[in-house]
Formats: sequence, structure tokens, C-alpha cells
Amino acid sequence: MNSWEPVIGLEIHVQLKTRTKMFCRCELGWAEEENTRTCPVCLAHPGALPVPNRRAIEWTIRIGLALGCTIADRAIFARKNYFYPDLPKGYQISQFDMPSCVDGTFLVPGADAGSDREIAIVRAHLEEDAAKTIHVGGAGGRIHGAERSLVDFNRGGTPLVEIVTGPDIRSADEARRFLQLLRQTVVELGVSDAELEKGSLRCDANVSVRRVGETGFRTKAELKNMNSFKFVADGIDAEIARQIEIYESGGEVRQETLHYDPTSGRITPLRSKEDSDDYRYFPEPDMVPVEPDAAMVAAQRAEVGESPGARIVRLRETLGFDTASGLVTSGRDRLYDRVVAAGADARAAANVVMNQLAQAGVAPDEVDPVELAKLIEARDRMPREALLEALARAGDPGFRADDAIAGSALVDDTAALGAIIDAIIAANPGQVAAFRGGKEGLLGFFVGQVMKETGGKASPKVVNELVRARLAG
Ligand SMILES: [Zn+2]
Repeated sequence: MNSWEPVIGLEIHVQLKTRTKMFCRCELGWAEEENTRTCPVCLAHPGALPVPNRRAIEWTIRIGLALGCTIADRAIFARKNYFYPDLPKGYQISQFDMPSCVDGTFLVPGADAGSDREIAIVRAHLEEDAAKTIHVGGAGGRIHGAERSLVDFNRGGTPLVEIVTGPDIRSADEARRFLQLLRQTVVELGVSDAELEKGSLRCDANVSVRRVGETGFRTKAELKNMNSFKFVADGIDAEIARQIEIYESGGEVRQETLHYDPTSGRITPLRSKEDSDDYRYFPEPDMVPVEPDAAMVAAQRAEVGESPGARIVRLRETLGFDTASGLVTSGRDRLYDRVVAAGADARAAANVVMNQLAQAGVAPDEVDPVELAKLIEARDRMPREALLEALARAGDPGFRADDAIAGSALVDDTAALGAIIDAIIAANPGQVAAFRGGKEGLLGFFVGQVMKETGGKASPKVVNELVRARLAG
């Protein structure tokens, strides 16, 4: 019996890879020596004034357009007040009630058209990242039990886009797929590295459950900072199970912020959740509104291509959902499209692009699709070793498929192979007698001898047929 329905909304933070920080000229480089990328603005010295990074504003709008959002004619930066050592000003500059991007949708395809989902994007807004706090001593780098905490201000002030979905996601797996496609989107837009493991993409999940058929929402809990796609799915699943258990045993879910520990699978409270009132938001007096002109928005729109979700839907019909998803989320579907346009068989092209080229470490954008299509077309006429070797070189400059094919084409000339087979049969009368006496496994011996004689270039199919025919006679 499955009488509970999960209700999930995601809040995703994307670090932009602009050259400099959001409100000062410090270069981004928070992986470098601590506190070397700072200035009076990002350290909040008295009298220092912020100047917004134009590129960060453009890229926020680019993300908003890719998410189908309406771009605000006028967005306002506000001060979000709270005290924590990673925030030298005592407030974070963030868009609040007038964000740059609102009311979008994001397609998350399912296995078939009937299970496609449109997830609402409530908003995407621009803010500055906090500094990085490092807890030293004690268990696992967490604050509890640490001897002391250090702050690295290199990260403080990095432009950060926060994307908030509606409560539309209905399973942990759907949340994972949403996040994978969103990541692929921002990477393709060229605005972020979006790496969960490195923190340039971060995901919080608001999770509640309700009885199937209920229309309202119950109390939600917020799961913080899960740093891999698997942990996002596992954490949400664990939280869904925790809440169902609470309700089933007659309890009430509390609104709180939670931490999911992937090693133990346990969920523990971090702190009780603040309401926005606690932050005493007010408009940032040192900043003018963001008012993008039509030309700027058009220029950003021109940078947005077909969405990953739409591409999965397009490829799903030919390749099936799993292959289509794999191609798109690995960023290899564009090469696939070009190879198929150059005449390659769709399924063979998908297999080669997603498996063999990936295993050989060939970067898709280095491959000439026309040459690859020729190679795929010749795949059954080449020995497997030679084909794999040629595929591994498909990204080399000046690679010519014809050369690889000519140098390794299978010998399928029946007269030439027949002569070789006759010689082998004449040289092995004992094995011939044994085969004819019933030891059919010896067929492999004869085929092996022919392959050895031809340096592996004989067509296995033709050799098998010829050997069988001659041994039978
Ligand atoms: Zn600075």
C-alpha cells in the first residue's frame, strides 16, 4: 500500500564562473591560498561601496531565459541581515521581493510522453556567496565538536544564482533527474562549472509528504547541501521515510533544517528554520535597480539552445529513454546528432558515441562527425581490435577514417581464404579426423588457425562458413 505522496521543492545555488566577484574586482579563486582574494569591499571595510558585476547580471538573465522565466524590467538588490562569521558585512546582498527572473518551467522527461513533467520555476535570483568556514579539530569537519573555526574569505562575494522550484517534484528519482538536467543546462550556457562535489552547484530540498488525494501541503523540512546526485536522491528518500514513520506513529513533522549523513544514512537537525521576517530584508541603498534593456535580453536569449529535456524527448523515440538520457546528460548528444546527420545508423552511432568513444577518453567536440560516420558504417567489415583502435584515434587532428578502414579491412575474398583453409586442413589430418568423428569443438581450432594466418584480418563470418563446408566435405 502506498498511501503517502512526497512533495518536493528544490533550491539550487549555482556559482557563476565570472572572472571577478559580484561587487568588487577581486578575481575568483577560492581554491587558492586562503584569504588572498580579498579587498575592502568584500571584507566590508567601512565606507567601501559595492559595484555590480555586469556579466553576472547578464548570465543570471541567460539562466532565467533557459528556464523559461519572465525577465523583470526592474530587479532590486536587498540586504538579508544575519550574523555569522562567514558574512563580514552582517548582511548578504541578494535579490528578494523583486528578483531578475520569475515564473518559468523546466521539462523533466520521463520514460514516455505520458510521464513527462513540467516543473515550475518560481524564481531565479542573483546574490553573493558567503565566505567559507572551516571547522578544525573534532569529528568530520563539522562545527559540533570542533576545536576552532577558520574563515576563508576568497569565496565571499562570488556571484551566486539561486533557483527555486515549485513544490512539483514527486519522487527522489525525479529530483535527481531535475538536478542533472539543470546542471547540464547551466554548463551548456557557459556560465558555471556546476560541480556538486566542489560546491559550485549546491542543492537543498524542501520535503513533505501527504496522503494521496490531499490537496493542501503539510509541514516541510529542509535538507541542506547534499553534494552528489546520489546523495540528493538518498537523502530525500530517507527524509520521506522519516516523515511517513512520524505520521504513521501519530506524531507531527516539525519545520526544521536537517543534515543528511550519506555514510550513516541518518538525518539530524541543524537548526530550526528561520522565516524571512528574521532576516529584516530591506532594499540595498548603495545599489541602483537592475533594469536590463531589450538588446541585452535579446543577446542573452541568443545564447540559449534547445533544452536538455527537449533533446531527450526528441531522441527518446529512436533510442529509448535510458540511452537518450545518457547521451544528453553526458553532453555527447550533439556529436551523436552530427554523426547521424552524416549518415550513420542511429543505434550504432549512439553506442559508439556514448560507450566506445567515452571509454577511450575521446572529447566529443574534437571528433569530425563525417569521419566518425564513415568508421561506424565500416564497423562490420573491420576486426574489432582495429575498430576500437581507430575509434580511440577519432579525435586526433587530421584523422581519416578511410586510412583506418583500408589498413585493416577484413579479408572476405572466398578464393583467397579458401586456399589458406585448404592448406591448414592438409597440414592437420589428425584434427580433421577427430572433427569428422564428432569433436565439433575443433571448429574453433581451424578458425583460429585461419585468423592467425591472416593476422586477424579475415572476416570471422566468412571463415566459419568456409571451414564448416570444407570439413563437412
Ligand atoms: Zn573584493
